[in-house]
Amino acid sequence: MADEVKQANISPFSELKITSHEVLRGVERRPCPKCQASRKYYCYTCYVIVGLDRSLIPTVHLPVKVDIIKHQKELVGKSTATHACILAPGNVSIHNYPEVPDFPENEKVIIVFPAEDAVTLEKIRLKLDKQTADPSDAGALLHRVVFIDSTWQQSHAIITDKKLKGLKRVKLESAVTHFWRPQRKPDTCLATIEAIYYFFKEYDRHILKREYDGRYDNLLYFFAFQYNLIQEQRKNR
Ligand SMILES: [Zn+2]
Repeated sequence: MADEVKQANISPFSELKITSHEVLRGVERRPCPKCQASRKYYCYTCYVIVGLDRSLIPTVHLPVKVDIIKHQKELVGKSTATHACILAPGNVSIHNYPEVPDFPENEKVIIVFPAEDAVTLEKIRLKLDKQTADPSDAGALLHRVVFIDSTWQQSHAIITDKKLKGLKRVKLESAVTHFWRPQRKPDTCLATIEAIYYFFKEYDRHILKREYDGRYDNLLYFFAFQYNLIQEQRKNR
């Protein structure tokens, strides 16, 4: 019975509002228009689409600016941080550690990191409700959110960086990973793009207090495409 369920091969993304991947089928390797390196779909060093028109790819708008601190040793071609930068070009910046941006003191910045002292967004909202005169002014509550893109071991060095260690740490509520790399544990060890996606779903629910309508689902556009490709290859083996 369990095998039958597996064979049904229902995509974990089928319920999401993700734009059709049809335009990606048949795309060939091309030189990146910026650096000339040979790339397929996008360039993971220039963060641009390669081999098709940008307008054919969805654009996601995020309510808070995102900074991703990427460990240089992480294989750039495999990093899903690139997806965020390409799909939400106006809202996401990637920094190669040890390069870390300066956060002005008047900016309200949080970092997503599953530490002992990390709190949920729900808790942050409850606390802010007590502090702010006008709780409907959600835009004033948080300005930027930081994510770390690295292995678990490398993340320790990054989180203790002097510019990051003082930031409020936030943990995500339970989220299941669909990451296809077999060396990843199939638990809550999320790929960076998944963490960003789940963060903004929770942000809408707890901070903006609105029902989630699927507006961030396209953050998983390339992630779901790659997941489905791997599943197809496995089936045809
Ligand atoms: Zn390039």
